[in-house]
Amino acid sequence: MILNPLSNQVGGHDGVLSMGDDNEIIVKPALPQELKFYEESVLHAELAAWMPTYYGTLTLTRNQPGQPGDDQSGPTIKALNGYALSDMMAASTLDQQDGANAAAASIAETDVVAAEAEDNGVNDDECICLENVSLGFKKPCVLDLKMGTQLFDDDASEEKKARLGAVAANTTSLPLGFRLTGFEVYDSEKGDFTKYSKHYGKGLTEDTVLDGFRNYFAAKLGPERMRLIIERFVNDLTDFLATIEDQELRMRSSSLLMIYEGDTEAFDAGVAIEQEKIGAIVARAQAHMEKGAREDNEDEENEEHEDGDEDDEDFEDYDEDDEEDGEVGQKVTDMRLIDFGHSTWTPGQGPDEGVVKGVKNALALFEKLLQEDYPFD
Ligand code: ADP
Ligand code: MN
Repeated sequence: MILNPLSNQVGGHDGVLSMGDDNEIIVKPALPQELKFYEESVLHAELAAWMPTYYGTLTLTRNQPGQPGDDQSGPTIKALNGYALSDMMAASTLDQQDGANAAAASIAETDVVAAEAEDNGVNDDECICLENVSLGFKKPCVLDLKMGTQLFDDDASEEKKARLGAVAANTTSLPLGFRLTGFEVYDSEKGDFTKYSKHYGKGLTEDTVLDGFRNYFAAKLGPERMRLIIERFVNDLTDFLATIEDQELRMRSSSLLMIYEGDTEAFDAGVAIEQEKIGAIVARAQAHMEKGAREDNEDEENEEHEDGDEDDEDFEDYDEDDEEDGEVGQKVTDMRLIDFGHSTWTPGQGPDEGVVKGVKNALALFEKLLQEDYPFD
């Protein structure tokens, strides 16, 4: 089966789906504004590097009559526009009517897309297809951190402006520039995830928000791994801050999606893979430098030696990705920017100060956590 409800959705409207053998593609009902934002992101490579890869769109048709003898009715796949999707999807599923019917039955089971699409004012069940950032994790501990001080865009209705203005003022959004929207943490003793809802996140204040982060970093991985995770997010946030200070856009209700591995063995496997890769790069760089030094010596002895570009050949056979084509290896942490239904590129208007503020405050709190003894309670 190719369309499933996303198993580790922590925030937002219900109805985020995933598809593919490993659920590698997120399928999300999208507002035209979000589509536009992704389409235009190709012009903003530095920010786009923080966004999930955008594969294209997929249109779901609602309320199709079922086949004879089939009492299921629901959306069917009408069109598939994503260029990368055609490679990823087995022709045997989507190209055939059987595949579309199976997809329709699955979506009807989830019973969410049509209703949510209507709630959202979404046009014609137009969905965006994105890289699933939680792929590569065995037990993804996911945090949706809603960024910025202003949650509505300028063309929102007065009612919505008032409502979301109050939400920001009554949560950490306005004072800190971020809010914990929702998160889930793997508990190895329980063998299950502990989930924190949007109500929990909305209830946090400036005084208690650090408890929220302590609860997010509560997977039982031991102090060294937890420290490594937080240090990585500090690095990511520092890099991300440099990026957005340089970008002209308004992010309204966009989120940083933070994920770390909650399974100890998988975590260590992820670190080992990284170290292997770094080791290979260092070894090659060393070999390259030694060769250079050797040739310098030879040059002194032999003036005729031609110093061509051939040195670069040393790097040619290094394949960054030892995994099979398209396969995502075990990850340790990841951080991306998602959810652009109310975000716009605003050339000439400078950076989004509310988001800059939020990243700085989150950074300061993560750095504070690094000063604490683990576990954080
Ligand atoms: P909404 O507009 O409903 O808030 P979001 O884009 O924020 O939609 O997505 C809702 C949730 O779905 C997120 O909190 C996250 O858990 C999950 N999600 C969304 N996009 C991705 C993605 N590319 N990879 C993994 N999870 C995602
Ligand atoms: Mn969201």
